[in-house]
Amino acid sequence: MAEERSLAAGEARIKFSCTRVGSFWELVNGDQKEKEKLEQATKGLAELLLYEEEHGYAPMAPDGRIGGNGASKIVIKDKEYVLLSKSGKLPGKMDYKSDFCLVSRFDTEKWSCEYFSEQPETKPTSDTPMHYQLLKNVQGAFSALHGHAIEKEEVAKALNVPCSVEETLFSTPADTKAMFTLLEEYPYPKWKIFVRKNHGFYILGRDLNECKTVLNEKLISQENKISIPKMKKTHKRKVNNAARKKPYNLRKRK
Ligand SMILES: [Zn+2]
Repeated sequence: MAEERSLAAGEARIKFSCTRVGSFWELVNGDQKEKEKLEQATKGLAELLLYEEEHGYAPMAPDGRIGGNGASKIVIKDKEYVLLSKSGKLPGKMDYKSDFCLVSRFDTEKWSCEYFSEQPETKPTSDTPMHYQLLKNVQGAFSALHGHAIEKEEVAKALNVPCSVEETLFSTPADTKAMFTLLEEYPYPKWKIFVRKNHGFYILGRDLNECKTVLNEKLISQENKISIPKMKKTHKRKVNNAARKKPYNLRKRK
């Protein structure tokens, strides 16, 4: 797979430039109500991503990071942002403080973004360009869920899910363009789930609940009808062990 070869060659996972503007607290500017709204949105996304991972649809990459992420639009103080999970997410439960970013701007010419995060080292997922541009441009879509489990044309065909023709490197302009090309032929909301060849599946919804419903109906409930090459149970246990160890140690040091 092109992306794995690219990572193995030492190329960056994130292929756009990021500028951190400030923290969540600075963004809400002391407004408790806005802070709670942001916390609720973050919790909702964290729960959905854990659900995706526990069902094996966000497999672990060779570097131990999780191949899955999600996004949701949110308005803070009258301005719209895209809430995203962070790049290089570890397995297991996500933390509000360290695992999310709010992207305020994405420049498609410079291929760069501006974002807020609680911790300075947190960066938005490498799939930010795709999430941000889709949620900003596809009418009626407010949330998205993505996982690397379903990536083959044959599986997409068996599931009756549209699949892109060309393989594109994640995080690049070509990758986002391929998603829009797919949407031209299979428009949302008639179509809500897509497969990106050798990359993963992509779900669009009016909210996170709808994304979860699509995941349940189009993938999880089809598991006994067709063979879905998702994460095996043994692999899953290993992931959970790693999850228990890593975040705990990280927290302990603080
Ligand atoms: Zn991806």
